[in-house]
Amino acid sequence: MPTSTKTTTIKHFINGVETTGEGNSVLHVHNPATGQVTGELRLADEADLNTAVAAAKKAAETWGDISVAKRTNVLFKFRELVAAHVDELAELITAEHGKVLSDAKGEIGRGLEVIEFACGIPTLLKGDYSDQVSTGIDVFSFREPLGVVAGITPFNFPVMVPLWMAPMAIATGNAFILKPSHRVPSAAMLLARLWKDAGLPDGVFQVLHGDREVVSGLLTHPDVDGISFVGSTPVARHITELATKHGKRVQALGGAKNHAIIMPDADLDNAADHLAAAAFGSAGQRCMAISVAIAVGDAADLLVKKVQERALAVKVNNGTEPDADMGPVITPASKERIVKIVTEAEAAGAAMVVDGRDLVVPGHEEGFWVGPTVIDHVKTEMTAYTEEIFGPVLVVVRVQDLDAGIALINANPYGNGTAIFTSSGANARKFQRSVDVGMIGINVPLPVPVAYHSFGGWKASLFGDKHIYGPEGVSFYTRGKVVTSR
Ligand code: NAD
Repeated sequence: MPTSTKTTTIKHFINGVETTGEGNSVLHVHNPATGQVTGELRLADEADLNTAVAAAKKAAETWGDISVAKRTNVLFKFRELVAAHVDELAELITAEHGKVLSDAKGEIGRGLEVIEFACGIPTLLKGDYSDQVSTGIDVFSFREPLGVVAGITPFNFPVMVPLWMAPMAIATGNAFILKPSHRVPSAAMLLARLWKDAGLPDGVFQVLHGDREVVSGLLTHPDVDGISFVGSTPVARHITELATKHGKRVQALGGAKNHAIIMPDADLDNAADHLAAAAFGSAGQRCMAISVAIAVGDAADLLVKKVQERALAVKVNNGTEPDADMGPVITPASKERIVKIVTEAEAAGAAMVVDGRDLVVPGHEEGFWVGPTVIDHVKTEMTAYTEEIFGPVLVVVRVQDLDAGIALINANPYGNGTAIFTSSGANARKFQRSVDVGMIGINVPLPVPVAYHSFGGWKASLFGDKHIYGPEGVSFYTRGKVVTSR
């Protein structure tokens, strides 16, 4: 792997100051399109962790107590600043994640929606009042912040996922510590600067870089009250077990294997357009990517042909190139894993319709490339079906009818998102009522809810009771008080 001499040191953001512990161990950050090392990340040690948690604890006491009006002013200002820095944030995302710039801007747009929702916090925090529940007695209830909360986020949405958490946690009066993915750390630092410029007091939003050690420190620290996690299922399960054991409130969103059913009565051109976008967008590295197409009955042959045409038309290049549709995958190990799973499917008898395993992008030979890949006649025992591939691979499973498709979805351990393509209202309604999945699209491939609904899957895609952002986000970051008053 090539190295570059031009690397930046990525610091922590602790109590309003950018700082780096000199003696701490170091990880390299790469640009996946070029393979070059672009950054040096010093991992937080125990002292950094303790400093950040102490600062958060102190800041939460004041921040949780100031007027809702003052908190709202900061949120409005932060919203303006993020909107004014979309280009800069998108460049940071593309340089470390690899997704194309338009996609990076798209994720910032989804994050902005959550900030806008959080700007309505005065209404969201309104309590309830019951007059004269007994003679001379009233009862009222309201919600208070938890105190110090931490967010641990995945590599695939360096801005959107932190913004699913931080605006909600901060609007509700908490201090928030972000532990971003060590693969994509730089955008989090710009967010920290923007919070500070928006007038947020020091210690209310902090960034600590690191991997499992610093996460373990957050999960077990006595002064951390709540944990929001988004990442893979094994880590989500571990986070939930360890943090709940240490008395913390936890929401942990895990991995996914999202299926789309395509009925013979669907508009197949529309379905193929959306399947290609949902399978290959961001190189398939989205928790809401469609990775399994369930082709029902007669839909299969024509659908596969149409998806093949679209997969072959996808332009793969460095995400900074204006005509790029799709960028690289995140690491060489990820590429190796994806190629292995595809090869196993082929060896087990699946049909390669489009094969992206050997893709090379001229001028970027050292990048981590996998081209769009479509595999037909996949069986449920193949690893291409059982594993979350997290790459630009669409597998096609053929079934006879809608019931068989729904049964397949419900037998899968994940339940994040799913979609149906159909022109029948009866099929759509049966589907929405029958699938054991948290987020459902009807002729919509990536049903990521708008910010005033909440986001969350079922089964192995979410541990904990509360979905993230939206009304459930307000509930997660607060606890209720009920006053009975004579
Ligand atoms: P990951 O689970 O490897 O890492 C997520 C975070 O946890 C990172 O900050 C990482 O540093 C930390 N971490 C990793 N291993 C750890 C350990 N053993 N102990 C403590 N902390 C640890 O996930 P990733 O590869 O960064 O992201 C991809 C995964 O995230 C996919 O499975 C994807 O489906 C999932 N994801 C889910 C959603 C959702 O909303 N459900 C959204 C985005 C991504």
